[in-house]
Amino acid sequence: GSQGILYDITDQKELVRLRQAREETEQMNEELIKATALANHMAAEAEMASISKSRFLANMSHEIRTPMNAIMGFSDILAEESPTEMQKHYLDIIRNSSKHLLLVINDILDFSKIEAGKLDIEPRDSLLERILFAIESMMHSLAKEKGLEFDIRENGSLPANIRTDPDRLQQCLVNLTNNAVKFTREGHVYLNISLENRSGQPYIRFDVEDTGIGIPDNMQDKIFDSFTQADESHTRKYGGTGLGLAITSQLAELLGGELTLTSQEGKGSVFSLVIPAGLDVTKQPPLNRNVVTQHSDMGGENTVQPRFSGHVLVAEDVEGNQVLIKSLLNKMGLEVTIAADGNKVLQKALTRQFDLILMDIQMPHMNGYEATKALRKEGITTPIVAQTAYAMKGDDKKCFEAGCDDYLAKPIDHSQLVAILGKYLPAYANV
Ligand code: ADP
Repeated sequence: GSQGILYDITDQKELVRLRQAREETEQMNEELIKATALANHMAAEAEMASISKSRFLANMSHEIRTPMNAIMGFSDILAEESPTEMQKHYLDIIRNSSKHLLLVINDILDFSKIEAGKLDIEPRDSLLERILFAIESMMHSLAKEKGLEFDIRENGSLPANIRTDPDRLQQCLVNLTNNAVKFTREGHVYLNISLENRSGQPYIRFDVEDTGIGIPDNMQDKIFDSFTQADESHTRKYGGTGLGLAITSQLAELLGGELTLTSQEGKGSVFSLVIPAGLDVTKQPPLNRNVVTQHSDMGGENTVQPRFSGHVLVAEDVEGNQVLIKSLLNKMGLEVTIAADGNKVLQKALTRQFDLILMDIQMPHMNGYEATKALRKEGITTPIVAQTAYAMKGDDKKCFEAGCDDYLAKPIDHSQLVAILGKYLPAYANV
């Protein structure tokens, strides 16, 4: 009867609803699949973007470093050609500007390496006095120029050694003390150092204290972000990229510690870097800060030009750099042959004997890695020193794997070049 019909209708309605629900589910499923595909696509694109960004930054750094090498090198050479007072002054400006530019480039490069997770920390037993000496010699004159007192103050007894990455620690301390001097008009900048116990582990604490402009409360968190400055007007007044603190606080974390700040606007700031001491400090001899100072004073600025004997084959494709390295090496008494690419290096190295090969890595046709591998395969045992403007972590490993004996970063540092030459070439015989 009527009930049956009612049931039928209900069933019918139920069926329609079910079908509708299924269709809706299917549609949702399809949309989900589409959304997943889109998400995957976007993730892949983001990854590509990040890879090409790293590559772009590496290339850019190379492109900038190569001409910088020539600019810095030639101003060094001109400075030795008895310039007039005014020329000397201009050369100083060129050299200081180049150094500044290089610092900015290094910051950008470090920042991108940290972002890409490519910055490796290399902990090793490190002499604390050496790090402090470097800071002292950099900051002393900077602070003096501004009429500020600068001092490194030891609170309590400190160990001679700690186990950390000394280059990265030094980079942090240079950044912090540089900022302190930059943002302080009068008074002092102190680097206070002490030991600290954190849950049974020894930590070393560096407090960089200044009597400068300070940082307003509402900006204190933000200045650790990249590209941020406490006050927009700072950019014009003080310069800077806003990367220093972002890099420093990330380095602090990579070193296993942290960077914190207390500051009062108009009074001054204390940036505190606390990192693990990394070894049993009770078993260390005490820090003695006079040792390194004395050592380093012996090899002062005015040492005579070192001289070597031998014939160096230089692989270098950029003309400006060819002239530069040739005149540097000639001045030190060395004979020089230039090869403009990897093929020419092979040709020359296989036809005569050289005492050392300086191998640029980025060259057309056959790069330095390939050329080195080929030379080693031919049984050439001449020491090969790689030169690269990329200066990325891991480059040195690649050089050694290819068969190089040593590694020089561009722009070439004069004293590093001398050290390398001294390692592989006999000193000039003064008869
Ligand atoms: P940069 O100095 O290159 O702009 P930083 O990341 O080193 O970048 O610093 C970011 C900002 O933090 C600075 O622009 C400045 O506003 C503030 N700041 C850093 N150190 C100090 C300091 N010692 N005193 C006052 N302000 C500081």
